Amino acid sequence: MPSIPLRTFGHGGIHPPSRKEHTADRPIEPIEPPPPEVWLPLEQHIGAPAIPLVKKGDRVIRGQRVANGGEGGVPIHATITGKVKPIDKRPHPTLVTSESIVIARADDGEELEFPEDPGWRSLGREECLERIREAGIVGLGGAAFPTYRKLTLPPGVAVDTLIVNGAECEPYLTSDYRLMLSAPAEIVEGALAMARILGLGRVLIGVEVDKARALDALRQAAAAAPRDGAAVEVVPCEVRYPQGAERQLVTALTGRVIPPRALPFAVKVLVQNVATASAVHDAIRYRKPLLDRVVTVSGDGVFEPRNVRAPIGTLLGRLVDFCGGVHPRATRLIAGGPMMGRALPRLDLPLIKGMNGLLLLVGRGPFEQGYQACIQCGRCLEACPLGLEPDQVSIRVEAARALETEPFGALDCYECGCCTYVCPSERPLLQFMQVAKSTLRRAGALRIKT
Ligand code: SF4
Ligand code: SF4
Repeated sequence: MPSIPLRTFGHGGIHPPSRKEHTADRPIEPIEPPPPEVWLPLEQHIGAPAIPLVKKGDRVIRGQRVANGGEGGVPIHATITGKVKPIDKRPHPTLVTSESIVIARADDGEELEFPEDPGWRSLGREECLERIREAGIVGLGGAAFPTYRKLTLPPGVAVDTLIVNGAECEPYLTSDYRLMLSAPAEIVEGALAMARILGLGRVLIGVEVDKARALDALRQAAAAAPRDGAAVEVVPCEVRYPQGAERQLVTALTGRVIPPRALPFAVKVLVQNVATASAVHDAIRYRKPLLDRVVTVSGDGVFEPRNVRAPIGTLLGRLVDFCGGVHPRATRLIAGGPMMGRALPRLDLPLIKGMNGLLLLVGRGPFEQGYQACIQCGRCLEACPLGLEPDQVSIRVEAARALETEPFGALDCYECGCCTYVCPSERPLLQFMQVAKSTLRRAGALRIKT
């Protein structure tokens, strides 16, 4: 029988070494001992900062709300039981600093309970959205966009398909993979709940085909789910980076192409990550807030790579200690994956809701190793999934002509790093794209002001 071709996107993409073998066979482990302190930044999501409800000296219990959501934002909850220290500015992984609620742990183990609501499957749309908002859920694939807002479509917009993203295509990262193995029913039920909110009959869960156990687990969970909801299809995709980027996954699973700079609902699709789907299930069924997250700690710069479940706000140094500590050869620290992640300067930073990976790598980073002139080989053009021209952008940025880069796609780049990966001249093309993009945006903002 001829084999059915695996789903994938059209142009570009690369096949970097997966490096997932470090952690793929390690089940999710809760951090032990629990962190002595957590820092909860009031800015962990897109939207206004949260507004504290507690003050220095207050006792708080794990699960208790400690900050209300600001406009368009979500609340924050105590992730350990203990005493509030002064609320002040602390280092933040993406914002340099942020006002943060710091909690010092008490050893009594008290925490709020979240019993099941027996009527959870028949709740109305508004009640479900409210529970998701109250639980403080944001996109856990890294975007940190409040989930209740993403599920509230703008007037006149309708979608016909929910895609659940299990295509964890970044090298090293296996936190979603291990979650698909340990909580497939929660992911499927969370997806069905979101389909009910959106009034949809179709859910597609995209998983790369090298995650065969996850595909099986999700298929079994989908088969066991109630029959009265949306149809759930678990779809194997080709192993190809960046298969897990929203645009590429939408094309792979539906054949639809999202226009440049548009969102998936431009083609009637909404995408949610598997970890977000699981958190949505917990919020609707148990009213359980988002208290912990699973994070892959990996790379040659850490002694014992692991998938760790840790309270949000745990300091990254504690995570690394739990994973055997920093290897003397480690030279780089990255939040997220090596392709799209963000370099971090230090370990005294808190684990935030949107952080799915912490990598300690060996070797030099972009711009540190030097690079050569463009030889016009065209490999970056072949690799770019959006068909942009990073070679032309880089040449113009080098010549201090970044304002001329828009026709070559600088504003459309979503920083997947494929171009940098293939360049034989080792040109840091992604970083050139970032420079061009921010220059164009600043110039645009100045134009609007004048
Ligand atoms: S980083 Fe930007 S320019 Fe480079 S391949 Fe990705 S989308 Fe294309
Ligand atoms: S891959 Fe590098 S050398 Fe080749 S065209 Fe692109 S920028 Fe130039």
